[in-house]
Amino acid sequence: PDSFLSVRDLRVRFSTEDGIVKAVDGLSFDVERGKTLGIVGESGSGKSVTNLTVLGLHNPKTSTVEGEIILEGRDLVTASEKEMEKLRGNKVAMIFQDPLTALSPYYTVGRQIAEPYMKHTGASKKEARARAIEMLTKVGIPQPKTRVDDYPHQFSGGMRQRAMIAMALVCDPDLLIADEPTTALDVTVQAQILDLLKDLQQEFGSAIIFITHDLGVISNMADDLLVMYSGRAVERGSVREVLRRPQHPYTWGLLSSMPRLGGDTGQALNPIPGSPPSLLNPPSGCPFHPRCEFTGKVAGDRCSTERPSLGEGRASACHLTTEQKQSIFIDTIQPR
Ligand code: SF4
Ligand code: MG
Repeated sequence: PDSFLSVRDLRVRFSTEDGIVKAVDGLSFDVERGKTLGIVGESGSGKSVTNLTVLGLHNPKTSTVEGEIILEGRDLVTASEKEMEKLRGNKVAMIFQDPLTALSPYYTVGRQIAEPYMKHTGASKKEARARAIEMLTKVGIPQPKTRVDDYPHQFSGGMRQRAMIAMALVCDPDLLIADEPTTALDVTVQAQILDLLKDLQQEFGSAIIFITHDLGVISNMADDLLVMYSGRAVERGSVREVLRRPQHPYTWGLLSSMPRLGGDTGQALNPIPGSPPSLLNPPSGCPFHPRCEFTGKVAGDRCSTERPSLGEGRASACHLTTEQKQSIFIDTIQPR
């Protein structure tokens, strides 16, 4: 496959007063050119840390990074801050849940879109302003020629999100990382922003890493899916495969805790019992074992002693046999 981002055995640790936090613990994945990889998991699963590390935005004083992050043949783990600065906003860009973390209140929206464009392309002020207006038009801001001179507080929440997308895409990045980009928005605006992202991906051909805790959102955004738990990938596959025939008990839990798409609102959810694992002191063996109701189906005490590995391609990191995964899912999980 034409993967242009390849992450191999990534480990990110933070030192804290209480000890070493293993935020990412041996993670591997690939992103193909022009495709969308969804990364799903509860908060604390390592999905945001992974992507901040890809962008080189982790704090080198308090964190250590091991493994490889290969972007078009270059290893970003060993890249200098100067090289990373050249990549960020240019080849790789990010949109966040809260546009106010990306947009400064002190500068006009237009200036904030124009600035990275001038920096990375050497365009003149006039060219960059024209580009900012063009980008505001693309993301559906009405009256872009006037609104280009507005400050972020003059925009609605949905418009700020659009402006941030314009800022992220202004240099035509090869990779866009979107971290819960629509979580703070109401459902209608959320759907509009997701449609917009898909359209722009078509136009710009960017690959997207789409991070979310919401499997419903991912089902119509992503091509491939990575399910993360405790700083590791526990399941991987195409979105269709993972959502139709999930193989990992944690994915089953996520699916049954999800409100049905288009179903009645207020429908009772089925949260996964127990709490996410401590990253200071992760459980032995399979990190999901303290919460997993299928532990007893695996021979011996493997679940609590032996870390299950994730194979290549379509795979899940669980000691259940393939037959067990299929039959448990079909018999007990699916007809919820
Ligand atoms: Fe559950 Fe054991 Fe599979 Fe972990 S390895 S998900 S504890 S059955
Ligand atoms: Mg997060």
